[in-house]
Amino acid sequence: LGLIQKRLAGLADFRFLSRVFLMEKRTVLVTGANRGIGKAIVAGLGKMDGYKVLLGSRDVQKGAEARTGMEGDIQVVALDLSHREVLTRQVEAILSEHGPIDVLVNNGAVLREGNVLEVAGTDFEVSLRTNLIACFDLIKMLSPGMSENGYGRIVNISSGWGSFSEGLGGPVSYSVSKAALNALTINASRALPSCVKVNSMCPGWVRTDMGGANAERSPEEGADTAIWLATLPGDGPSGRFFRDRKPIDW
Ligand code: NAP
Repeated sequence: LGLIQKRLAGLADFRFLSRVFLMEKRTVLVTGANRGIGKAIVAGLGKMDGYKVLLGSRDVQKGAEARTGMEGDIQVVALDLSHREVLTRQVEAILSEHGPIDVLVNNGAVLREGNVLEVAGTDFEVSLRTNLIACFDLIKMLSPGMSENGYGRIVNISSGWGSFSEGLGGPVSYSVSKAALNALTINASRALPSCVKVNSMCPGWVRTDMGGANAERSPEEGADTAIWLATLPGDGPSGRFFRDRKPIDW
């Protein structure tokens, strides 16, 4: 079985090389990419050869402003994670205009404050919808195409606050959504073929609207591990949780 898996990984690499050789590009979709870490992921991937990057933003005007000054084949697409029906229609439009998605980066998220006694039920629901259910919907819609094409990379942007081993330290809506996103990573990695790699990552504490001005890392530093996971080779890991390109405990 190990040998077959290695062969298939080699085949995926061969397909990847032949696509690069034939100048075919991999198409990447990044959600919530009009600012912060998502924007840095798009900018970083845009500079790499062989990728067409779709900058997902619920407000395309904000997306277009974020795209200004970036190098590479980057196009803005409307993507609102708040409602399944809207998201489904938007994904259908993206697929018909841009073809299959090879790489999905589930980045867009909200952070609502409060513990279980403080937070409003509606905020809890919005957090689960944005940070978890939209990621589930996108994986469900896009991964069959990846399996069919023999190549896929799915990166779920999680957080140390979603880590049991680090104590689930954040506000309840956020921690629960990110812990569940990690569970989704494990489940999806088992359900999908080995040519589709599904991983979670924590970007660290990053200077964005969410992380605040005092955070330790730049958005580019926060984006590094996500870009690495989005571009993993055929023998790369799947079903793992990373920070700084190193595996961490769930
Ligand atoms: P951010 O600056 O607040 O950006 C969040 C992005 O998500 C924005 O583009 C926002 O779009 C988008 N978004 C939120 N709700 C959306 C919705 N319903 N539909 C579409 N887009 C939506 O956050 P960030 O710091 O860059 O965070 C990026 C990822 O890293 C998140 O998954 C976050 O949980 C994770 N993370 C961040 C830190 C940190 O220290 N910053 C630490 C650990 C993990 P709008 O502009 O339209 O609202």
